[in-house]
Formats: sequence, structure tokens, C-alpha cells
Amino acid sequence: MLLAFVLSCDRQNATPVSGPAPSAPAQQAQEAKLLEPAGPSMKIDPTRAWQYVKDIVAIGPRWDGGSGQKKIGEYLHRQLKNDPVEEDAFVAETPAGKIPIRNIVAKFPGTKEGIIVLGSHIDTNYPLRNTSFAGANDGGSSTALLLAIADQLRGRKLEGYSVWLAFLDGEESIASATPGDIRWSDRDSLYGSRHLSEKWEKDGTNKRIKAFLLADMIGDKDLDIFRDGNSTPWLEDVILQAAQRLGYQSYFFSTQTTVTDDHMSFAQFGVPVADVVDLNYGYNNAYHHTTQDTLDKISPKSMQIAGDVILETIRLLNAGAGPNPN
Ligand SMILES: [Zn+2]
Repeated sequence: MLLAFVLSCDRQNATPVSGPAPSAPAQQAQEAKLLEPAGPSMKIDPTRAWQYVKDIVAIGPRWDGGSGQKKIGEYLHRQLKNDPVEEDAFVAETPAGKIPIRNIVAKFPGTKEGIIVLGSHIDTNYPLRNTSFAGANDGGSSTALLLAIADQLRGRKLEGYSVWLAFLDGEESIASATPGDIRWSDRDSLYGSRHLSEKWEKDGTNKRIKAFLLADMIGDKDLDIFRDGNSTPWLEDVILQAAQRLGYQSYFFSTQTTVTDDHMSFAQFGVPVADVVDLNYGYNNAYHHTTQDTLDKISPKSMQIAGDVILETIRLLNAGAGPNPN
């Protein structure tokens, strides 16, 4: 993904946010605080999450069109073999020609009408395909997180909304390795999520989605989730509330910026979206899209924080958290 406001990438230059975000009316935030989450508490198993990310990194580079792309698809199908899984496969026209793209969606049915979609991209950076780049954080950590969340959803009667896990292919730009590079364009990025959101718009699914929560680069040892100006403000407020309930608020929203990522594909159709993303990976984002994006820079603790906050957010949404809390 890339930053629309590149200067915000620098911690020193970023806009600090203290207290309720300006976009959230104070009264609304107060009312939302009265909500008690619905259903039993859910937490990921960080040991399992760590095993998943190690497995995924061991596959090696997973750029689209390469052998790693097939392997990550097979790996996900193995992990999800007892779950209802659908594929959204197609061939994308890219600056490098026709490239196959394969989204994988696992569906966990709930008792309440409506769907919460959790997303992560599964591909690694294409322009770095001839390097050792295996995206421990960028692509790896969030994909592993979704598998760890699947472990919590599987075999459980979900009293709330259905939860779908969207493993999205083709997030990375084919032409540009560098966020902010002029060659990154709307037509050369987010291939998988654009296709899936268009499909779900046609078949009516988008209207049933109560929230689309994207995770990206959430493994950073120095976790610092950004408040994203391209995300839906009330949904960001619910995430912050979930973080506060778990005592993790210091990892959230000290930095505010605008992030272009897979959530944009769904936002264009009016789906409430939030990107749970840490775009300050290493000093001044130095590890992002470099061969330094390796396992030693990420931690199971950071994955646990992101995962537990996402699961708590689901409980708050099930309790009725929304644009007009009541
Ligand atoms: Zn990336």
C-alpha cells in the first residue's frame, strides 16, 4: 500500500492525535463507550500465529505469477481444509502482461443477518521478485493472523454476524516497489480486492457487509497502528474502543495519515472499512519493501495485540456498535 500524504510516514512529521479523534463527535464516542461487547471473549493463540508466519515466510517470495503464489494458495487451502472456502480466481491485465490472481475466502456463519469481513493480502512485492524478499511483515504477518483468527472461529457457534476471512491476492503494484512511487496507480495495484469487491457489488454481498477490517503490516515489533483518514471514522472509533477495553490503546492511533490499501476497493461501494496498519516499519519505515522485512523484525506479541483488538471489535459490532450507537 502507499501513503497519500507521504510526509506523515515520518513519525516526527506525523500529526499527533490525542483524545477522541476530531472526526468523532464527542457525544457519539461517549454513547459508544456504554456498549458491552456481545458473546464470549475471543483471543488468538500467539504461538499458533507465529508458527503460521514462519511457515509462510518459509515458502519464500510469493509474488503473483511465481511458484510461491501457488504454494501460498495450497498452504491456505490445507489450513482451511475443514472450513467452507470459496475462490475468486481471474487473470489480471498488468504492466507485466497477464497474471493469474487468486483470492481465497473462508466463511464462518453467524446467527445474525450481516457479515464482517476480515482481509489481508497474501502476495509479496512483485518488483522485488528476484531478491530474497519474503514479506515477513508485509503480507506474511496479517495472513498468519487471519489463520490464527480462523482457529478461534472454527467449531464455535457464532452468535453474531457471520465472519468471512478474505485472503486477497494482487495487492502490490507490479510496476513500483516503492510506496509513493509515481508508477503506483489505481489500475496497477489492489488487483484482488478490486475484483472481489466488484463481484460482491454485483451479487449484492457488499450491502450485507457491516464492516470490512483489513490488517496489514501488523507484525512490527514496534507496533504503532495508524489512524487512517481513508477508513470509516465510526469504525476507527470502535477499534479504538476495543483497544481501550483490552488495555492496548497505546499501540493505536498516535499517528494519523491516509493510507491506500485493499480497504479502498470496498469503500468505493459504501462498505464501512478500516485498515489496521502500521506503516512505520523500522526507523522512518526503513524495512518496508526491502529485504530487511524478515522474521526478526516482527513479534508474536504484536500479532496478538492486533488480533485480539480485531476480535474485540467484532464483539462490539455484534453488540450494535455502528454509526448511530443505541
Ligand atoms: Zn507491500
